[in-house]
Amino acid sequence: MAQPNNPPKELKLLLSNPEVRFAIEAARQAALIVRRVQQELITPALTKEDRSPVTVADFAAQAVIGRLLAQFYPSDALVAEEDSAALGEPDNAPTLELVTRFVGEGDRRVSPEQVCGWIDHNRADSAERFWTLDPIDGTKGFLRGEQYAVALALVVGGRVQVGVLGCPNLTAASRPEIGGAGALVVAACGQGAWTTSLSRVEPVPFERLNVSQVNQTSQARILRSVESGHTNVDQIGEFARLLGVEAPAVSMDSQAKYAVLAAGQGDLYLRLLSTEKPNYRERIWDQAAGAIIIEEAGGRVTDLDGQALDFNSGRMLKNNRGILASNSLLHPAALSALRRLGA
Ligand code: AMP
Ligand code: MG
Repeated sequence: MAQPNNPPKELKLLLSNPEVRFAIEAARQAALIVRRVQQELITPALTKEDRSPVTVADFAAQAVIGRLLAQFYPSDALVAEEDSAALGEPDNAPTLELVTRFVGEGDRRVSPEQVCGWIDHNRADSAERFWTLDPIDGTKGFLRGEQYAVALALVVGGRVQVGVLGCPNLTAASRPEIGGAGALVVAACGQGAWTTSLSRVEPVPFERLNVSQVNQTSQARILRSVESGHTNVDQIGEFARLLGVEAPAVSMDSQAKYAVLAAGQGDLYLRLLSTEKPNYRERIWDQAAGAIIIEEAGGRVTDLDGQALDFNSGRMLKNNRGILASNSLLHPAALSALRRLGA
């Protein structure tokens, strides 16, 4: 890695893109606040069912990104998972106080009203140009101390232009020097997919991500959700048998799965429709950042019918059923297996 003194031309191009620099900084700041909430609020005394740390961290991360957007891209719309309505209820005053404390980081001038304003900054369901944010994707993983991600993407004219994932608990196997610093993954249209340390800024280099070259279905490494309600585990089993896949599927929460696939450490990622919610439609903030990262790493992302994802249809991917992501090479075989299964 000839960096950072002599970065390759492609990396110079990526880092000269102001929207990329913004997205990296925003995801980094949000992920570090989320990690602090985790360290301070998730104690052994809290039961796993207690969702309060998730609530505080979700709102704090969204407020941090809303504040940065207001500063750097004041007219851009934000299509994000949370809004501040619940925080305005008197019962939730202690939660709002905690969120304000984490967002303010010791600055007592930051008020609860300001924090609510940042959470709701330019709130929209769609726009010609918008940012989409999942402040904590994989909340169940966050509570279990496993994988979760701050996911931010810029969509213009229905096409994802920039995507970034801050994954505090993910460390690329090839980067032992980064240790427990977490991984940041970023991609921009035509400028590749890259990873670096989430918490160390300089002089930690960026590394280009490329999907695997696996082209035999028997060798495919399948990725899937931990939560069985978010997919169809039995059907993934049938899919694997049909393709002669030898290794058991790897389960992981959040869009961290996209980072793993982009890094060539998995080959197929399936989001099948669960039997409880067969008409579920994906939220755009759950897929936008991951999708551009896969495509820029040389992979392919479609729905289960092989259709391109349509980010022009509001808060949900209304026109798409489920998700199939792959290293490209295995995509045709996976789609035909899905058709045979009626998935
Ligand atoms: P994962 O960790 O990959 O299972 O993805 C977490 C995301 O799944 C959450 O952000 C939810 O928005 C989303 N989700 C919730 N319910 C469902 C469902 N029935 N099917 C698919 N995804 C879901
Ligand atoms: Mg999510």
